Amino acid sequence: MIDLSAIRAAVAPSQPRVLVLANQKGGVGKTTTAINLGTALAAVGERVLIVDLDPQGNASTGLGVDRDERPVSAYDVLVGDAELADAVIDTSVPGLSLVASTMDLLGAELELADFDHRSHRLNDALDAFTRSDAGRAYSYVLVDCPPSLNLLTINAMVAADAILVPLQCEFFALEGLSQLLRTVDRVKASLNPDLEIQGIVLTMFDKRNNLSDQVAADVRAHMGDKVYRTVIPRNVRISEAPSFGKPALVYDYKCAGSKAYMKLASELIQRERDIRHAAA
Ligand code: ADP
Ligand code: MG
Repeated sequence: MIDLSAIRAAVAPSQPRVLVLANQKGGVGKTTTAINLGTALAAVGERVLIVDLDPQGNASTGLGVDRDERPVSAYDVLVGDAELADAVIDTSVPGLSLVASTMDLLGAELELADFDHRSHRLNDALDAFTRSDAGRAYSYVLVDCPPSLNLLTINAMVAADAILVPLQCEFFALEGLSQLLRTVDRVKASLNPDLEIQGIVLTMFDKRNNLSDQVAADVRAHMGDKVYRTVIPRNVRISEAPSFGKPALVYDYKCAGSKAYMKLASELIQRERDIRHAAA
């Protein structure tokens, strides 16, 4: 008889991939992508942990985790001495867990200023977690960043295997992207030599707007294969879902936005497979 578990163990990565959703602009779809890509990955059997690093806590709220359900949060892991494992909570989506954020994170930057290794706090916490049996059960950690290149985002970039950039198809998209790429290069040079751009996801694409097409073409011309073929359309169901505390994929799995996130998940899984093969 074929030993399936041995085959699985041989092909599965032994530790989760840490993908960081970063873009210093607000409102470009970082949180929406974290929630819905996470849900889509979980729907096809991957175990996913979302780490909410934004003091606004939109990923936590959007996943239906109320403020009083966050006894141990990302703040306690970064600034306090909580272990990351103690902050992991289940969401209503099977296979999708969360480390929630609280407003305390607003003060984290100042509080971390006195720490040695202040840029490595998340990295150290995630490292300990992903080496544990509980952590190894996950295949992806998605870190949702605040809309700035502050110490929280730097912590995420230091902990990252790779960066996933949600990019809204609007006029200054490329300028914003080059600023982000410069920061990634700086982090790569000084703090995390293995850091890479995993991909760029075009979000809120409006097919009735010529500018969307033009910006998408420009970004593809500059970034080539890094840009996902899947484009996330502007879709009102996606923007309604968070107020119900549900991923769009749960709120309305048939809407165009949900379908796009399912497609993105399958493209991402394929890309991750290619990266693993290239490395092997
Ligand atoms: P960020 O995390 O980068 O600040 P969000 O994911 O919170 O951005 O998105 C900003 C706003 O746009 C939110 O209100 C969200 O619901 C909405 N939004 C995101 N993606 C889409 C989409 N594809 N279609 C329509 N609205 C969207
Ligand atoms: Mg956000």
